[in-house]
Amino acid sequence: MQIKEQIESLRQELREHNHNYYVLDNATISDYEFDVKLKELQTLEAKHPELYDASSPTLRVGGGVTKNFETVVHNERMYSLDNSYSKEDLEDWEKRMQRILGDAQVEFVCELKYDGASISITYEDGKLVRAVTRGDGFQGDDVTTNVKTIKSVPLQLKGDYPPKFDIRGEIVLPFEGFAQMNAERVENGEEPYMNPRNTASGSLKLQDSSAVAQRPLDCLLYSIIGKDTGISSQWQMLEKAREWGFKVPEVAKLCKSTSEVMAFVNEWDSGRHNLPYETDGVVVKINSLQHQDELGFTSKSPRWAMAYKFKAEQVSTLLNEITYQVGRTGSITPVANLVPVLLAGTTVKRASLHNADQIAKFDIREGDTVFVEKGGEIIPKIVGVDFTKRPQDSEPTQYITHCPECHEELVRTEGDAKHYCVNFYGCPPQITGRIQHFISRKAMDIEGLGSETVELLYKENLINNYADLYTLTKEQVLPLERMAEKSAENLVQGVAESVKIPFERVLFALGIRFVGETVAKKLARAYKNIDALMAASEESLIAVDEIGGRIASSVVEFFNNDTNREIIARLKTYGLQFSLSEEQLENQTDTLKGLTIVVSGVFETVSRDELKKIIESNGGKVGSSISSKTAYLVAGDKMGPSKRTKAESLNVLIVTEGEFLEMVK
Ligand code: AMP
Ligand code: ZN
Repeated sequence: MQIKEQIESLRQELREHNHNYYVLDNATISDYEFDVKLKELQTLEAKHPELYDASSPTLRVGGGVTKNFETVVHNERMYSLDNSYSKEDLEDWEKRMQRILGDAQVEFVCELKYDGASISITYEDGKLVRAVTRGDGFQGDDVTTNVKTIKSVPLQLKGDYPPKFDIRGEIVLPFEGFAQMNAERVENGEEPYMNPRNTASGSLKLQDSSAVAQRPLDCLLYSIIGKDTGISSQWQMLEKAREWGFKVPEVAKLCKSTSEVMAFVNEWDSGRHNLPYETDGVVVKINSLQHQDELGFTSKSPRWAMAYKFKAEQVSTLLNEITYQVGRTGSITPVANLVPVLLAGTTVKRASLHNADQIAKFDIREGDTVFVEKGGEIIPKIVGVDFTKRPQDSEPTQYITHCPECHEELVRTEGDAKHYCVNFYGCPPQITGRIQHFISRKAMDIEGLGSETVELLYKENLINNYADLYTLTKEQVLPLERMAEKSAENLVQGVAESVKIPFERVLFALGIRFVGETVAKKLARAYKNIDALMAASEESLIAVDEIGGRIASSVVEFFNNDTNREIIARLKTYGLQFSLSEEQLENQTDTLKGLTIVVSGVFETVSRDELKKIIESNGGKVGSSISSKTAYLVAGDKMGPSKRTKAESLNVLIVTEGEFLEMVK
């Protein structure tokens, strides 16, 4: 087979699998097989840059960086929708329309109103050419590079699509993926995101598209805009979009009357709680596009469409007590303990109050009857107080001044919404929290030891920090609750085996604030061993690619602490890995130390990602744009002429792929 055909057939096959998996939710190949084929395609494409295609499935992994999002004027304005809240509202709307349309029989299409970030995507000759955010409705930001990484957005259409059109829809972050992202953030000592909608729209504006590629975003489409599309109704629009490869939810209904519309609304008002993503209403549209044309727009919204807003499910209940939780990093979260109530299908007993400001804003007090709502957030929130029910002797809430666990005075720094207990080494939940993080799966992955056992061991005074784990004996562990001969043995053995865990994971396990898995890897690679890292200054840390001031100062602070230094010294004597392995070191040199290198274009023998890895493992830093600090520009095929001009004007050395690989040989 010709190379060209081989590449085309692989692309076609991978596109089909992507569509089955991400749009139809019906996998037709194993993840492993998919990866093998994708790698095969990547290798072929790297060898044949002349066959580059901007809609190849290999571009899904991202890599492009957008420094400034360009403002783009929409081909057609993106309107708002009028809201309605009752059957009467809908009937009034119908009457207003009938006045314009006369006696014509109208049909309605009901769709769910997805709660995410609106997007308008332009396709030309079946290829995705541009994706623009809603912005102010007239113009938005060009986020094409990021949208291309969303797997359910087709890069290449199939079927009888028109040569040019825009399609509009909503980018959403399904609950499950959102919860997972938050679990990871909490693990890394970061604040969790508030809700899926804001996180989805924030994701579109990330500069690094490979970070976007890792977020489990989805894109649901509902409207096609263009001349000569051959489409005559909203219902046909949904069907056609599905045929061309777009993800158009099956939940939609063609209705003959507002009563049928209300039946759909009522069904989904409760049914929506079983959907994987957030919805906040139903959008009702007049089916015939000819009718839509006759009705036209007001200054803000189409006359032919109406949003029917679901009432956010709300209940009222009694707030018994406000308690305070202390996290692994010392952050304090106030929690409302409620008289249990049923809300959106689940029993709610507790709600987060977030921080002191939140309590003050609503003037929430113990003994109050409060309104609880389930919005986009997973955890229900308190949205107000029923002041008519406030007891006579009610007192304003005094936010705690001291840690509920260790009684240390709390601190709150400028610009931080939370209070912190800074007694990091004497506060019980912080001590056990750190040990629990240390043993967790992505850190030291200690088999035979779980979170509850950590708490027991701490309570029995057998451990006070993670170094103590390594001196535990079977005899000490055996008397603990629910311990048996075998489980005690497993625990001690699990701890002993963890000394093989590689340096980068040990670094992550230490629980340095803001040092998550990826940062730990970066630091391990940059400094190679713990001594070098412990000696590093903030300036030197910031010079490492992607390490910012916040991380740098946290790292310095951690290693300046005597307790931490002592614990690390002990861990060393127990044999933990505190430097990169021989093998890791072998692939490392200092050849490019101190040099910032920008790569641009398409390469022949290595992929762009490989090239970046080569730079980093040789001590260099990958730059994202050309500046006077850039040492080299590695220029591949198809590099934009403006880059070359800029490099030349700043006297940046331009090298070819071959010359560069020679440098690091
Ligand atoms: P609003 O911003 O409240 O005026 O509502 C209008 C927005 O609803 C549009 O810009 C869309 O982003 C969004 N929307 C969500 N689902 C749909 C849908 N099925 N049809 C039309 N618009 C929708
Ligand atoms: Zn404390």
